[in-house]
Amino acid sequence: MSVPSLADLSLADVYRARRRIEGRVRHAPLVESQSLSALAGVPVFLKLETVQPTGSFKVRGATNALGHLAEQGCRKVVTASTGNHGRAVAHAARTLGIDATVCMSALVPANKVDAVRALGAHVRIVGKSQDEAEHDALRLVREEGFAYVPPFDDPHVIAGQATIGLEIVEALPDVANIVVPLSGGGLFAGVAFAARSANRAIGLTGVTMARGAAMHASLVAGQPVLVEEVATLADSLGGGIGLENRYTYALTRDLIDQTVLLDEASIARGIAHAYRHERLVVEGAAAVGIAALLDGVLPAGRIGRGPLVLIVTGANIDMDLHRRIVDADSMQPDSTQSGLHPIS
Ligand SMILES: *Cc1c(COP(=O)(O)O)cnc(C)c1O
Repeated sequence: MSVPSLADLSLADVYRARRRIEGRVRHAPLVESQSLSALAGVPVFLKLETVQPTGSFKVRGATNALGHLAEQGCRKVVTASTGNHGRAVAHAARTLGIDATVCMSALVPANKVDAVRALGAHVRIVGKSQDEAEHDALRLVREEGFAYVPPFDDPHVIAGQATIGLEIVEALPDVANIVVPLSGGGLFAGVAFAARSANRAIGLTGVTMARGAAMHASLVAGQPVLVEEVATLADSLGGGIGLENRYTYALTRDLIDQTVLLDEASIARGIAHAYRHERLVVEGAAAVGIAALLDGVLPAGRIGRGPLVLIVTGANIDMDLHRRIVDADSMQPDSTQSGLHPIS
């Protein structure tokens, strides 16, 4: 439990990020959940990043990264994400008056392409896989002077996500534990860095899906590894961490207390619980903290120490899928293979 002395990330960078995103990103509400507090035996708070423009916290990192690039005189950026990061980059570019291009493969569904276009970004359709789209984005960087905006492995993206950690500690200085959805680790690294900078005793748990969790597999292997991508309700948690990972792997490894892995049924219960008991529409990736608490897989000894914050990261779920999940939940038998996987 130490604060890493990272040349690439300081608390001052996080305050700089807050300045840059101020007025462009919302200060997300932190609300107590009656149902989850009763269950956990400690006050449980939800940090509602669902209220952000484009429906996820990703606008924080994207706005900070693009704001920094704009200060350097950069006028055009490119990324290859079709999900929350792509939307966030498109939105941030528009608010900052710079040009965004999002490269996508021909297989990306029309609704996702339209969502990015509607935010004012240029869409380039290239190739038949995410890899080919990514390749084209990197070619634009090499040959046409675009700046690439990585989805997580970038100090400015991490510092932007870290502003969530600042807001949590300011609103709730006694916070004992923070539970963070974990994929590429930009969110975890940022929040963990800010929280531990304020109080070294804050417990930090990463939650992700049981299959296809690249950061978890990498932490177990002791180095970044590839995993096979598997369809999951937590689709925003899919994807690799990059074999050449420079920042988020080391930060996550140094700051995480444990990783919790959830099966699909558990993630569905989290989505349904958020809807029924909190009146919240959340996507699978955002429901994993709630799901872990419902499943009783957060370690009681650690959780019992005081106020707990769950970061509810986004709302971008297909509404037909959401309705099916909530309907099916009312007739769901109780079964789970979820479990606790301490890292150290
Ligand atoms: C990207 C994302 C995450 C995970 O963030 P990382 O920085 O990749 O770990 C979690 N929830 C939602 C909704 C996301 O879009």
